[in-house]
Amino acid sequence: MEVIDLRSDTVTKPTAEMRKAMAEAEVGDDVYGEDPTIHKLETIAAQIIGKEAALFVPSGTMGNQVAAMTHLSRGEEVILEAESHMFYYEVGGLALLSAAQTRTIPGKKGFMEPEAIAQAIRGEDLHFPRTGLLCLENTHNRAGGTVLTPAQIGAMAQIAHDRGVPVHLDGARIFNAATALGIDVRELTAPVDSVMFCLSKGLGAPVGSLLAGTKEFITKARKNRKVLGGGLRQAGILAAAGIIALEKMVDRLAEDHYRARLLAEDLANIPRLMIDPKAFPTNILICSVAKLGISAERFSALFAQHGILTNPTSPTEIRFVTHKDVSEAQIRITSNVINQIVKAVNHF
Ligand SMILES: *Cc1c(COP(=O)(O)O)cnc(C)c1O
Repeated sequence: MEVIDLRSDTVTKPTAEMRKAMAEAEVGDDVYGEDPTIHKLETIAAQIIGKEAALFVPSGTMGNQVAAMTHLSRGEEVILEAESHMFYYEVGGLALLSAAQTRTIPGKKGFMEPEAIAQAIRGEDLHFPRTGLLCLENTHNRAGGTVLTPAQIGAMAQIAHDRGVPVHLDGARIFNAATALGIDVRELTAPVDSVMFCLSKGLGAPVGSLLAGTKEFITKARKNRKVLGGGLRQAGILAAAGIIALEKMVDRLAEDHYRARLLAEDLANIPRLMIDPKAFPTNILICSVAKLGISAERFSALFAQHGILTNPTSPTEIRFVTHKDVSEAQIRITSNVINQIVKAVNHF
């Protein structure tokens, strides 16, 4: 059976060109600073993302956590959006690794009102923790791949900077945001002090993310990566795929967005499924099945039997993620199968 895997863009397989580059990569011991392919990736990444320096890390989670460890001192407070990945999906790493306390602010599509951020930043008081970091997320995963504009990021970062609080951007899918807005990614990263982005999602590399910031920040971050066990040896094999991800795979993200739009429009036409295609500007869709009378988990299990894989994100919602390994034809198959299943469910 043909599998159409819409669970995440992390499922993308490396391209033939990546595998060839990996096989041919020049390598050395990166803990000794001797891997030329890692150096090349970090140099290209810093330039593209508009920061002084970058650090290759095995995963986005490690990149975010290393950033937090580098910005924070023990017992400080971190301000995050209430549905953010760093709060929701990073295994309590802020508490575990940075000894930080989290303070969440509900956002709209990842945007927190600057006024709410201003109120959350602690003043001087014997009883208060110090506010040590503001975290932003673009695109916003749980909101459905929604996009923050440079003006929105600038407004949130400004409030923090005015009070001496640094800003980290979880930009796992920052190139999807830049693509949707039709702007240079540096417009989105200029207002923040550090940014993490993933090579292993829509960009198709098998492994890896980058953390970027000032030279001084990255020097400290390198030490924090080491303590987490992220000091890698002949990792140029991985970096070789990452270089192709950055140089060849960014421009095609618009295709993923187009296919997500097609799928959203098809799903919107299926009776009793609820989705607003305009609400999802990138490659992530969230569709409500609340009117179907069965749970998202049961419904998704019905089309999983036809090889169509998705992730339920709540009892009434299913997430679909498009990526380079799902074709337009497979999008049409997906909506046809789901349409048939909805008809069958209506007869239960
Ligand atoms: C995927 C993701 C991460 C973490 O990446 P991993 O490589 O899976 O650890 C961080 N933030 C966001 C918003 C993500 O979507």
